[in-house]
Amino acid sequence: MIVELISVGTEILLGNIVNTNAAYLSEQCALLGLSLYYQSVVGDNEQRLAETLEMAMERSDVIILSGGLGPTQDDLTKEVAAKVCGKELVPDEHSKNRIEEYFKNIGARKITDNNWKQAMVPEGSIVVDNHNGTAPGIIMEVNGKSVILLPGPPNELRPMFERDIFPYLNKLQPETISSVMVKMCGVGESAVETEIQDLINGQSNPTIATYAKTGEVHLRVTAKAVDEKEAKKLLKPVVKELKNRFGTKIYTIDEKVSLEEAVIEMLKEKELTLTTAESITGGMLSARLTNVPGASEVFKQGFVTYCNRAKRKLLDVKKSTLKDYGAVSEKTAKEMAKNGAFATGSDVCISLTGIAGPATEEDKPVGLVYMACSYNNKIIVKELHLNGERAKIRENAVVKALTMLRECILNDVEE
Ligand code: ATP
Repeated sequence: MIVELISVGTEILLGNIVNTNAAYLSEQCALLGLSLYYQSVVGDNEQRLAETLEMAMERSDVIILSGGLGPTQDDLTKEVAAKVCGKELVPDEHSKNRIEEYFKNIGARKITDNNWKQAMVPEGSIVVDNHNGTAPGIIMEVNGKSVILLPGPPNELRPMFERDIFPYLNKLQPETISSVMVKMCGVGESAVETEIQDLINGQSNPTIATYAKTGEVHLRVTAKAVDEKEAKKLLKPVVKELKNRFGTKIYTIDEKVSLEEAVIEMLKEKELTLTTAESITGGMLSARLTNVPGASEVFKQGFVTYCNRAKRKLLDVKKSTLKDYGAVSEKTAKEMAKNGAFATGSDVCISLTGIAGPATEEDKPVGLVYMACSYNNKIIVKELHLNGERAKIRENAVVKALTMLRECILNDVEE
């Protein structure tokens, strides 16, 4: 089955927004085992959009359009697609009620007339509810082809795709595709690939694909079978084997769980409280942790101690330590972690100090980072040499700190 994407929006053509919807949808199609041969971007122009869709319908079986479903004049995807497919737009009572409900929930006093445009749907189409906005998704089935219209905002498109479009596309195929994402931290991509070389070499169904993220490695295990149950049966032994090989390096096999979520969950399970003491990352670690709903159950405080004075004043780092060893040193990192835990009465405190660059400091190289973790009256410290530019070093340092935090709690390591 051949799939084609059409991203609609002049903003994309002008480079004002990055076409992340296309990247997301392409990834999802690959996951579904669908062949995606063409992608195009069209501005908010009736004629060019109609031409592009006509061409797509000649050469592809499924055409997914994103964007242009909004209430304004220049949002014309639905109107053009309906015309190309030979369908009239008719009012949809269900969508109308949902729009009313949506505006009521957000406390809007008045619904403007143009909003009702979103309750008009092509006759005979499948209407897909939008749980995060007002524009419903639309599926038109015409001459054995499917034309799928999705809203542009990624926070509307992605949940809609996941909930309704993914299963719809999966059903169009003779085989079902099911996959598990095995997420790991504290191990490099090449080490992972070496460790599973035999599994990769012998793979046909399920297949294993490696994805490297900053400080993490993800393995997607995908199986094809007649139904979901059979696919899951095929996945089970492979996931088990990966668990045998990588043990606690695996922090989740749930696609939706992030490293920070896994860390927060672990702290909750063990009933531990956490404090962060950051210098190089300036609060980025706290931001990632507090992004997790419910983090307040375990996260007590985040210190951002960028200058020496702050390190001394807020974290009681000794003047002599800063003078003799510098702010970027093993000793400073240890004192930050130890005193951060003490000051807040937390069970765990993780500290970070380093040089993000571009300039070197204290005659120390860019990318040098010290992290310390205070837990159970013990403090361990790590020296890292991170590559890349400032942003990359800081991002990597955050992931390494989350990994260290996890390892400290898992291993309850000794100094
Ligand atoms: P709305 O109801 O908000 O008008 P829409 O379905 O009409 O949604 P657009 O008006 O085309 O969608 O885009 C709305 C916003 O969605 C854009 O400003 C942009 O932030 C985001 N967006 C649209 N298309 C894409 C895309 N291809 N990739 C990433 N973001 C996009």
